[in-house]
Amino acid sequence: MIQEDLFKKIVAHCKEYGFIFQSSELYDGLSAVYDYGQNGVELKNNIKEYWWKSMTQLNEEVVGIDSAIFMHPTIWKASGHVDAFNDPLIDNKDSKKRYRADVLIEEHLEKINDKIKKEVEKARKRFGEAFDENQFLSTNQKVLEYSQKIDSIKKEFVEALDENCLDKIRQIIVDQEIVDPVSGSRNWTEVRQFNLMFDTKLGSVAEGANTIYLRPETAQGIFVNYLNVQKTGRMKIPFGIAQIGKAFRNEIVARQFIFRMREFEQMEMQYFVKPGEELRWFDIWKERRMKWHQSLGIDPSKYRWHKHDKLAHYANAAYDIEFEFPFGFKEIEGIHSRTDFDLSQHQQYSGKKIQYFDNESGESYVPYVVETSIGLDRTFLSILSAAYKEEQLENETRIVLNIPAPLAPVKVAVLPLVKKDGLPELAREIMDTLKLDMNCQYEEKDSIGKRYRRQDAIGTPFCITVDHQSAQDRTVTIRYRDTMEQERIPVEKLAEIVKEKVDMKNLLKELL
Ligand code: ATP
Repeated sequence: MIQEDLFKKIVAHCKEYGFIFQSSELYDGLSAVYDYGQNGVELKNNIKEYWWKSMTQLNEEVVGIDSAIFMHPTIWKASGHVDAFNDPLIDNKDSKKRYRADVLIEEHLEKINDKIKKEVEKARKRFGEAFDENQFLSTNQKVLEYSQKIDSIKKEFVEALDENCLDKIRQIIVDQEIVDPVSGSRNWTEVRQFNLMFDTKLGSVAEGANTIYLRPETAQGIFVNYLNVQKTGRMKIPFGIAQIGKAFRNEIVARQFIFRMREFEQMEMQYFVKPGEELRWFDIWKERRMKWHQSLGIDPSKYRWHKHDKLAHYANAAYDIEFEFPFGFKEIEGIHSRTDFDLSQHQQYSGKKIQYFDNESGESYVPYVVETSIGLDRTFLSILSAAYKEEQLENETRIVLNIPAPLAPVKVAVLPLVKKDGLPELAREIMDTLKLDMNCQYEEKDSIGKRYRRQDAIGTPFCITVDHQSAQDRTVTIRYRDTMEQERIPVEKLAEIVKEKVDMKNLLKELL
């Protein structure tokens, strides 16, 4: 299936089956804001639970908090967000569309990279078994030219970003003849900086209102609580603080469904370490986080690392984990070594000492921080796009979501074959036992085939069918979503079998 079509289908499927709705749809919608429906919220909560447990339960030295969205405005001055949380924007004068200038350049680089990939594939076909990819990459003239082009654009780009020179960013767009992806026009405006923070007023205007911000990241809530948690939890370095919560950014371009929203959720963890040990911890957390993604059972080739060419002024190392969405490889999580920048800034702006006293060495220092920052909504989209399958059966197409069983919105559907002969009663009895442990659905409407399809479409891993034989011998059939195989088992054994398969433990175990 063409990837663009796949993406359209996923978006439509999300709406049709109660995963995601456009916010304020009744009023024609609010751009780049989405609501999670009855199935979406279950999947989202399960992803959160998995991340939360993997952080706070599997790591004894990581604890969680839940800080407020509103914070003292000076926090955002100290963190640099008031002055520097900007994206460079550019408008196309013909199409009147607005773009992020940095994204236009990155997409241009990706296109050149795709050309290299095409050359490699062509050569692979031509040379067959004997093909040596590394040798080809280092000797083929065309590939070398493309690689040189990428390097020289990247060099200019990093220079422009380092100097914060908007004219130079624009010049790259002009020199590379980058066109508006919609209209094909090259009629660009100047590049301008645009601050992404939303602001609002605290208190009534008459009382002398203060401008405060909706947090653009959850991390600052962790930094300003560092001392509280360290002291009350008697935490010893190295230790981490994890948090899940909403963040808000007034994104310039927000066209890719829940990939880029103006209100979204982050799952962040800041790990406080001794200065000088940050790069060792950075490598450890890089590995742990990739393992977490790969435990979801998605094809490992869908993930790749992206090293930041331009480091933020506070970072001394930064990598992104990118996922291959239907619209290409894009960032899903960032892992950053943030030095002591944030804590030092808060120390300076608050006038309060933020230091750690190391009992063993007898020294005090401002801890360094390694952060892992993952977008919950992007993770949701990655799981859903990997799970969506259209399978050709004998007489029909079946749409199925192969979501890992512990994350599935509904774990079990209980389906009496007919609405009489005592079958609904037995089905209800089964529901009453299972629903104490997991989210179950009872359905008696429509043919059993139609009911199976509906459950496949929301990713329910198990369907339990109660038939006439069940009423006689208390056995039921269990149908497995992925293989569609059916098996007859005693009602008394059901809870044990299903519970074992949907347990979050199955995912957590893979991280040990
Ligand atoms: P991008 O370059 O795509 O704008 P970013 O580098 O600004 O992302 P971070 O500030 O590192 O993102 O935020 C951490 C994570 O939060 C990202 O990896 C992403 O998964 C998520 N995230 C950031 N912005 C958005 C958004 N507008 N909508 C949904 N998720 C987001």
